[in-house]
Amino acid sequence: NGTKPNGLGHAIENKDSSPTSERLQVINDEKNFTTHLSSQIERWGLRDVGFNYNIVAVFGSQSTGKSTLLNRLFGTTFDVMDETRRQQTTKGIWMCRGNDMSVMVMDVEGTDGRERGEDQDFERKSALFSLASSEVLLINLWEHQVGLYQGANMGLLKTVFEVNLGLFGKKAQDGSQGRTLLLFVIRDHIGVTPLANLQATLTADLTKIWDSLSKPQDLQDRQLSDYFDLAFTALPHKILATDKFEAEVQELRKRFVDKNRDDFVFKPAYHKRIPADGVAFYMDNIWEQVQTNKDLDLPTQQELLAQFRCDEISSVALAEFTEQSKSQRRPIEAGRVVECLGGLMRNWRSQALERYDRDASRYHQGVYKRKRDDLLAVLDSALSPLFLGQLKNLHKSCLSAFKKELLEGLRGEEYNFADVVGKARTKCETQFTDGATEALLEDTDWTWEDELESLREEIGNVADQCRKDETKKMVNLIERNFKKQISEPVEINLNKAAPDMWDNVLSTFKQTLEKAESTYLAKARSFNCTDDENVTSLAALRKRAWLALRAKIDEQTADTVILSKLRSHFEERFRYDDNGVPRVWRPDDDIDGAFKKAKEQTLDLIPRYANIAPTDPSLEFTLPSEISDPLTSTDEFDFSSTLVIFTETKSIDLASRFRKDADAYYVEAKRSTVSSIAQ
Ligand code: GDP
Ligand code: MG
Repeated sequence: NGTKPNGLGHAIENKDSSPTSERLQVINDEKNFTTHLSSQIERWGLRDVGFNYNIVAVFGSQSTGKSTLLNRLFGTTFDVMDETRRQQTTKGIWMCRGNDMSVMVMDVEGTDGRERGEDQDFERKSALFSLASSEVLLINLWEHQVGLYQGANMGLLKTVFEVNLGLFGKKAQDGSQGRTLLLFVIRDHIGVTPLANLQATLTADLTKIWDSLSKPQDLQDRQLSDYFDLAFTALPHKILATDKFEAEVQELRKRFVDKNRDDFVFKPAYHKRIPADGVAFYMDNIWEQVQTNKDLDLPTQQELLAQFRCDEISSVALAEFTEQSKSQRRPIEAGRVVECLGGLMRNWRSQALERYDRDASRYHQGVYKRKRDDLLAVLDSALSPLFLGQLKNLHKSCLSAFKKELLEGLRGEEYNFADVVGKARTKCETQFTDGATEALLEDTDWTWEDELESLREEIGNVADQCRKDETKKMVNLIERNFKKQISEPVEINLNKAAPDMWDNVLSTFKQTLEKAESTYLAKARSFNCTDDENVTSLAALRKRAWLALRAKIDEQTADTVILSKLRSHFEERFRYDDNGVPRVWRPDDDIDGAFKKAKEQTLDLIPRYANIAPTDPSLEFTLPSEISDPLTSTDEFDFSSTLVIFTETKSIDLASRFRKDADAYYVEAKRSTVSSIAQ
């Protein structure tokens, strides 16, 4: 026939001359992957079919009729063992195209490692390869193998599942690899035990295997059903019930051909979604991963010993390490920053590794190194809480140092707020960064940047609050100075009660306010106040200044004060002559006229006091009125009403009270003339 070996010892064979019936040894007995798969797929006419193809493979013990089954189902030309010669077929994985089907079929040929005592390496690898690369895996077994753990290759399945999960489990999860159908084909089914019972036994076995797998950390709770669908079928004895066998195989074949059947096996969910022209590369890759996977290699005696001893040595080193590191756990948990924690941790870690290296490095190097990595990971994860605790404590202590620094800097009268905050901030951040860098161990994925970020945020908040407090204090101080400055000028002017009294008061007020505002602005610059804050503060300052002026005016126009002002005004005109000399009334003096004149002049003052009204309109001052608002906690403030010192009624009342005082002077003056006559 047309066998032609290639450079790698792979064979391409063809029994008739059509390229579609050619078969290819995908993996040879040297465990090499063929370089011809890509061109073979093209020769099969499958290169350009896109996703329109399927892959099926078979798994099972030697000589259980696997090749026979495949040839019947798919019209392929795999070698079948010749009963008469009992000759072993070539080891490896073979592939055919299904006859008139867009299916790539893989047949596994091999020695039966268990029976022949050979190593199971090829068996395991080819099984894993089939499982990972095909959509449907036929698991072929004799009826009498059901329930026999070894006989049914269940032990092999365990390893294969385990490694499959480790290698491809995550990919399968994100949907990029889809699911796989495990189709159990029970051969030589006599029929005494119904298929349902056999199926139950196999399902229970598989579940048990799955539960006993050592699964990767992040796939701990994955179920068998997350990755695999199970299906079961049975075939009669090929020799004893030939016709029935052929008929049922034909029936089974329909499940691979007829898309409309409910039990059609090539469901879209099983497809690996690799376009046909990429299959060769994809499979080559899977084989590469399978080949290089360490978990499939049976450990040698040397490795077994190394595993045992390295584990022991590692746990001794770990115990000493744990003892050492315990000393600093308390203080960290109590919130203290441990001086030189990084140095300590570095020491404990390197001592543990040295101890391990000293004793373990004599053993199998691969195992020694792997266990060393494990140990290092354990050490680092034990130290990590100390590191994180240290960061937290550093954060706290740096923040309180910042607050203290700030308070100290703001103690005097003359300080630049922005400078004080800037200095304290730099000091605090440097302190944190230095501490964090010291505690950070090399070759870890630890970081402290996030903690620094949150520290920065808190510093910002503290500084902000402090700035607001300081601004408030400053505004209060300015207000106090303002009050002092306007006090005397207001008193003098209100005493004089000249016609331009309010002009003088208001112009003093305005000048003083201007000075206060510029004092505020000069300070606010060093506080880094925002424009909004400045607008608010200035508005508050203006209002408070105005209210301070009003308070001073109120004090100067209180009943007794204003009455005394009126009295002395009257006295000056009535009891003293134009030259300021006290009058001595004589009987022929015009007491009535003088009295009347002084009284009128004094009464004229009341309306002058009654309203804050300058004669020069340019001196008028105004403030926006505010409606009371519980949200911003502003009280009602009506500016125009603050201009009124005396209401109409009040003015009348004051006038009448003053008149009584004046009348008393008049009576006294009259009496004095009487007494002077009497003398
Ligand atoms: P493979 O090694 O699993 O591929 O098995 P083969 O297909 O090469 O078959 C091995 C031997 O078993 C051959 O002599 C077949 O004729 C025979 N055989 C195939 N199918 C059956 C079957 O269903 N029952 C029995 N009893 N023998 C079979
Ligand atoms: Mg075979």
